[in-house]
Amino acid sequence: MYLVAVDAAKCEECEECVNNCPQAVFRMVDGKSDPYQSSECVFCETCLSVCPPAAITITEM
Ligand code: SF4
Ligand code: SF4
Repeated sequence: MYLVAVDAAKCEECEECVNNCPQAVFRMVDGKSDPYQSSECVFCETCLSVCPPAAITITEM
């Protein structure tokens, strides 16, 4: 199981993570990415590759 986190201070509000995660982990809340379904993450690393400021971190639990 993975814990997905977004550093809101780094997030540039591009929505690329929302649009590219195959597991629909992310949603936008107040303009920032919110990894609200972190438990669905399969560590495909797509979000890591599409996030311009590298605001996303994923930790194995
Ligand atoms: S690693 Fe893959 S499944 Fe996990 S949050 Fe990122 S895009 Fe979604
Ligand atoms: S891809 Fe990165 S910068 Fe873009 S909305 Fe997601 S977390 Fe924010």
